[in-house]
Amino acid sequence: MIIAANLKTNLTRSATHDYMKELQRCVQNSTQEVIVFPATSSLDCYDTTVTIGAQNAYPVEKGAFTGEIGLEHLQEFKIKTILIGHSERRHILGESQEFIAKKFHYFKEQGFRIVYCVGEPLEIRESSKDEMLTYIHKQFEGIDTEYNNLIIAYEPVWAIGTGKVPTFEDIREIHSELKKKSSAPLLYGGSVKVNNVKDILQVENVDGVLVGSAALYVDHFCTMIGYADELEHI
Ligand code: PEP
Repeated sequence: MIIAANLKTNLTRSATHDYMKELQRCVQNSTQEVIVFPATSSLDCYDTTVTIGAQNAYPVEKGAFTGEIGLEHLQEFKIKTILIGHSERRHILGESQEFIAKKFHYFKEQGFRIVYCVGEPLEIRESSKDEMLTYIHKQFEGIDTEYNNLIIAYEPVWAIGTGKVPTFEDIREIHSELKKKSSAPLLYGGSVKVNNVKDILQVENVDGVLVGSAALYVDHFCTMIGYADELEHI
């Protein structure tokens, strides 16, 4: 399974080093694929077997893009994994589908592992199922869903950081729809916690989880990885 942590705008570089040291201790005997997305200023060369990914980068090698980082900055730390389409970038930072697709295309051309996020806001969830699926399908415009280095994360916007989680049946249903669209591994994200991760990981077509707030506590994240290992040995 794939167990990923999005640390967002949290943990300084020094705190991330402590985090990664602790995490390394717990992944040593794990068979899970673990990915951590630190804050941009915390990107570094970490002494770890965990994959380090970028939460964002501009689709350019380098240049005049104030406040952004480019490919060159990722290459310095041998980073080959990137998160694209996260709802906070779509809704807070205003990234359009067109720009997201441009970013996807650029990092695909560079051979990056791309964790591509999709998910609907509450008003769409509360409309009909058809509207919800149409909304989510639009988030795939311009995206190569058969890219062989792709991971998809389904993250309902209303579940992110809110403590609210769709029912397991809802997750099963939407994941089975998304599996028709792509054969890529499919993660669930949105208020995954120590107390629900085991059940979520057992839902059909859930290939892993993308964890935000709960992953800030390295012991919680380690517990989740341990649960995934236990499930694989049942
Ligand atoms: C996320 O933002 O990717 C996420 C899943 O956050 P949280 O776990 O805090 O809902």
